[in-house]
Amino acid sequence: MHSVVCIKQVPDSAQIRVHPVTNTIMRQGVPAIINPYDLFALEQALRLKDRFGGTVTVVTMGPPQAEVALRKALSFGADEAILVSDRAFAGADTLATSCALASTIRQIRKNMPVDIVFTGKQTIDGDTAQVGPGIARRLDLQLLTYVSRILEVDHGARQIRVERRAEGGVQVLRTALPCLITMLEGTNEMRFGTMADMFRAARAELKVWDRLAAGIEDPSLVGLKGSPTVVGKVFAPKPRALRAEMIETATQEPKDLAVTLLAKLFTQHPRIERELARRAV
Ligand SMILES: Cc1cc2nc3c(=O)[nH]c(=O)nc-3n(C[C@H](O)[C@H](O)[C@H](O)COP(=O)(O)OP(=O)(O)OC[C@H]3O[C@@H](n4cnc5c(N)ncnc54)[C@H](O)[C@@H]3O)c2cc1C
Repeated sequence: MHSVVCIKQVPDSAQIRVHPVTNTIMRQGVPAIINPYDLFALEQALRLKDRFGGTVTVVTMGPPQAEVALRKALSFGADEAILVSDRAFAGADTLATSCALASTIRQIRKNMPVDIVFTGKQTIDGDTAQVGPGIARRLDLQLLTYVSRILEVDHGARQIRVERRAEGGVQVLRTALPCLITMLEGTNEMRFGTMADMFRAARAELKVWDRLAAGIEDPSLVGLKGSPTVVGKVFAPKPRALRAEMIETATQEPKDLAVTLLAKLFTQHPRIERELARRAV
């Protein structure tokens, strides 16, 4: 069983700042962590390895400092780590990021077939949840999003059965391998690495792949050149002026309470009152 887990090093969201002119995230001086959602993906991949044996490869596209995230992943028990790093990748939007990661995985599977590609549900800095589906599309993988549990992996039939959190319930889905899974948060707990894995992680020689090693011949597909997204503006939403209000209900008749609530609702949203009056005519 060979799982590839895509992890992204993100600035600790509590300390993120946005550049006032370029509207890009300013990472300098901000402590970096592994995107917390990606740890659920990594732990799931490690559990599959515990059950079926095999290899877990972690991949990140990022600056040289992202090596720290990979070593951390190795310390948890991942076997291989690849840092995809090249100046050509700078300024990548989700399209260019998925293009670079998909190409990297294509290179990885030249050496060893890949059964499952894992990503987190989304990141805590970009928050788009587009990269996983973007990779699946480019690699023609079956896509399973918001997976909360892997129920069964049938190697003989090359099939997988999972639970997926859907609006209003849980879906049980079966599909063919290879597939890409975006793993839901809160579905497991990252293990503590063993002492042996920690030593191995500290000494491991990471693979660092530049654009060509990642199999990308056309530089216009990645980085800023390959990014059609334009961030027009980034701003914090205005704090809500309205605050929650406690209403004493014990002393009110239900009819009086209903009138009080409707009066408040109509005062705050006169359009609702107008619309109801229009429909009543
Ligand atoms: C115009 C524009 C310019 C940008 N410029 C920059 C820039 O200069 N520098 C910069 O760092 N960011 C830049 N970004 C942000 C960049 O687009 C996102 O960081 C990146 O595309 C991932 O998107 P996301 O964070 O929304 O990931 P999501 O789609 O929310 O992530 C889903 C999952 O995909 C995987 N994943 C995502 N990104 C990576 C990665 N890099 N490596 C491995 N796995 C990953 C993870 O498993 C993650 O949980 C820019 C964005 C835009 C729109």
